[in-house]
Amino acid sequence: MNIHTQPAYRQSVDDVLKNYQTKKSGLSTAEVAKRIEANGYNELVTIKAEPLWRRYLRQFQDWMIILLLVSAVISGYLGDVRTTVVLIALVLFNTIIGFAQEFRAEKTMQALEKLVQARAEVYRSGKLEEIESRCLVLGDIVRLSEGESVPADVRLFQTMAFATNDFALTGESDPTRKYIHVIRADVPVANRHNIAYAGTTTATGEALGVVIAIGMDTELGRIASLSQSAPIEPSPLQLELRHIARYVTYGVTVLSLVLLIVAIAIHLPFKDALLFAVGFASSLIPQGLPAEVNTSLAQAAGKMSRAKALVKKLSAVETLGATHVICTDKTGTLTKNEMTVQQVSIGGVAYQISGLGYEPTGQLQTKGKTLSKTEIDGLSGFFRTGLMANNARLLAPDQQQSQWRVLGDPTEGALLTLAKKAGLNLEAEAQANEEVRELPFDSARKRMSSIRRHAGELTVYVKGAPEAIIECSTHIVLHGKIVPLTAALRVTLMAQHVGLAEQAMRNLLFATRHIDEALAKKGEIDDIEVGLTIQGMVSMIDPLRDAVPAAIKAAEAAHIKINIVTGDFAPTARAIARQAGLGNGRDKIIVITGEELQVMADDEVQRHALRGSIIFSRVNPEDKMRIVSLIKKAGKVVAVTGDGINDAPALKHANIGVAMGLTGTDVAKQASELVLLDDSFATLVAAIRQGRTIYANIKKGVLSCFTSNAAEMVVNFCSLILVATFGLPLAINVLQILAVDLLAELFPIAALGRDKEEGELMQARPRNQKDHILQKVSIIDILWSGGLIGILAIANYLFFFGRHDGVINPQTIAIATTLTYTTIVICQLLNIMQRRSVHGLFTRYQFSNKTFWFAMLGSIGVVLAISYVPAISTFFKSGPLALIDWLYIALAAIIFVAVREANLRLTRNRKSPLVAVPSLGAQFI
Ligand code: ADP
Ligand code: MG
Repeated sequence: MNIHTQPAYRQSVDDVLKNYQTKKSGLSTAEVAKRIEANGYNELVTIKAEPLWRRYLRQFQDWMIILLLVSAVISGYLGDVRTTVVLIALVLFNTIIGFAQEFRAEKTMQALEKLVQARAEVYRSGKLEEIESRCLVLGDIVRLSEGESVPADVRLFQTMAFATNDFALTGESDPTRKYIHVIRADVPVANRHNIAYAGTTTATGEALGVVIAIGMDTELGRIASLSQSAPIEPSPLQLELRHIARYVTYGVTVLSLVLLIVAIAIHLPFKDALLFAVGFASSLIPQGLPAEVNTSLAQAAGKMSRAKALVKKLSAVETLGATHVICTDKTGTLTKNEMTVQQVSIGGVAYQISGLGYEPTGQLQTKGKTLSKTEIDGLSGFFRTGLMANNARLLAPDQQQSQWRVLGDPTEGALLTLAKKAGLNLEAEAQANEEVRELPFDSARKRMSSIRRHAGELTVYVKGAPEAIIECSTHIVLHGKIVPLTAALRVTLMAQHVGLAEQAMRNLLFATRHIDEALAKKGEIDDIEVGLTIQGMVSMIDPLRDAVPAAIKAAEAAHIKINIVTGDFAPTARAIARQAGLGNGRDKIIVITGEELQVMADDEVQRHALRGSIIFSRVNPEDKMRIVSLIKKAGKVVAVTGDGINDAPALKHANIGVAMGLTGTDVAKQASELVLLDDSFATLVAAIRQGRTIYANIKKGVLSCFTSNAAEMVVNFCSLILVATFGLPLAINVLQILAVDLLAELFPIAALGRDKEEGELMQARPRNQKDHILQKVSIIDILWSGGLIGILAIANYLFFFGRHDGVINPQTIAIATTLTYTTIVICQLLNIMQRRSVHGLFTRYQFSNKTFWFAMLGSIGVVLAISYVPAISTFFKSGPLALIDWLYIALAAIIFVAVREANLRLTRNRKSPLVAVPSLGAQFI
């Protein structure tokens, strides 16, 4: 490659091509391989992150950990080496686990990010191909189209209404128009208007250009090397738990100081009092929780992505579970987006087309008769229109793909298949009709045009939604003659359109006109797309996805409202909605058209949107944005799907923006929280289910954890009173308290994160996003359940001394405290189990989740070891329990379970009439 003296923006296109040793038809495969060898891949290498040890040390910037360390130092100073050892172990354990979890969560999210690989359209050896952006090389000729990200720095040589969003690079928030002319002076990046930069996206239009910089040599690469990768934002749940943990730590610190004073006041030896306070504090700190939530969310994110729902933000996992309303696309989300033209209507005659999918084999028939070659040739003008107003490419089966495929818009792909079935030679046609200008499709205009030159004459080929074509047409071809499009003909045409749409057909009209050079080159869209002559209509089917009816049913059973927001025609959308079973046969499907929406008041739109089973048809992106805002305003969590560049505002605004992974533009993907890798609605519903499950699991874990803490608090208080009044020793020693948190309950609670979905979860109403895990009801629940465990444990302790005539010696103290400890642990394990299911302890659900049961076995092993294995029991100052002691433990367990189960049934009965009360949404029906 030559050393070029001037930067590419100052050179002519020919010079740039020469310098990069390339031509407009693209590089050859061999040359590409050579260049990858020489210059590497088009990738940004992130600069070295913070060293691991420094990240690990950050774990110590935490009140809980500091408090534990202080406690360790105090007990060490007082000569209680064991407590120090246990506390240090606790600190190491927590920081390492916390660090590992954080690290893993980050890695998971990074791996997920990689799954949305950017792709680029590139000309290689004269053929347009789609490749991974990382495989681009210098000198590649790329095509940039609307909504897609620019894959490298590209010197443009052909533009059509082309503008890019350069905000990321230059801070300019309006789209920047780009041209191809040479710039004659040195200008800053923001003014190099003939270059499209990596990291920006195409706002409008299309362009061709040559790659002049890749990877770290791009302008973006230069900036990227200066900044670090952004840290993951914590989710609301993570923040809530961090807050809870912090406040509990503060509270516990104060409380243990009070207890210390009380302990000294009742003449406990100073050392014992201090140790008691230290143990009290360390045991009540909810150390594991924030890390636990982290893991659970990241695990769920990983699981979701394996099910093809890619979470871009951890917080989306929990928000998903709170979804109240889904506003979904029709095409591609509910349907397969595999268009097949089944019928065409040309000059007043209807023809049926056989064949399925994109494979171009099939016959044209009319009234049961197959058309001959000459008959078909007579219609070629019609089929050509579909071919000209087209950007898609039809790909024949090859080594990798066994089926015919479409590159580009499926609607357009179907028209290529159609033209091929009609015997047209796609390549020859494209060559004979050079494209002069394209007026790209947009979902507001609902049509697109291509201006082509053939034998010196310019023709505009237009295709689009029937209303959108009729609107700008004056004539129609009928029985071989061009006749004026009368009011009566318009009505007939629309009636035909509606009739076919009711059979779930998606119809397009084709139209053409001749124009002159000046208008073609410089004219406004409105001046070009007028006075058209309608050539005929195509009707295509787009079959429903198989999994959709079941998914709709599941979502509706979960009290999630579903609306279809589509650019498509009302009857088509309604036919698809019927097939999909929207409204479950109960709610009437209501169609609101874009026009009706325009004149509808906000509160009415909101009422409808919250009711669900509404089809908003022929809407434009602004309407979509309005619907989403109104749902959000009502305080409901809304998930919105979208694919186009115009959908980005609605996607950004929604609580959960859902982009299509296959057909979505990069802009849409960037604006959303979730990417459906298979575009399917069913995948979205599955993700919502995952979101609900994980929230439920985290909630179980948090409540379980705090229950035992409450129990320990009650035991400690009662125990102090007993010391003061009867001179009994403390009911549980510090090491045993720590053994509850650290050894006995930790793993079963962690295993709750793997609990599978419970059936009832998808029958409940969506949770209110403003609800917290720790609110009045749950705090009361924790306090009484924990209190009950505490009292039962103290009772068992007292009964022990009752049985032993109040003999206090090291031996009885060891066994008595072990009894307290074991009672707490056994009750806590039952508590954890009981909180697993909405049905409580006695349900088949308990048999699920093997990990949980291994954890439970481990916990029981720990309990037995602390009591019976000599070395261990000496360390924990414990002693062997007798059979009678176990009977008392069993009694406590039975009482605890009985009270909790009774409470569960009582509250459920009290709650159930509530379920029948119509929700906010239902009142409007
Ligand atoms: P949706 O994706 O919800 O079906 P779109 O906004 O993509 O809605 O399309 C709206 C209407 O525009 C379609 O019903 C169809 O009539 C028309 N249309 C769609 N794609 C094209 C296209 N590539 N060229 C011309 N018209 C199109
Ligand atoms: Mg579409």
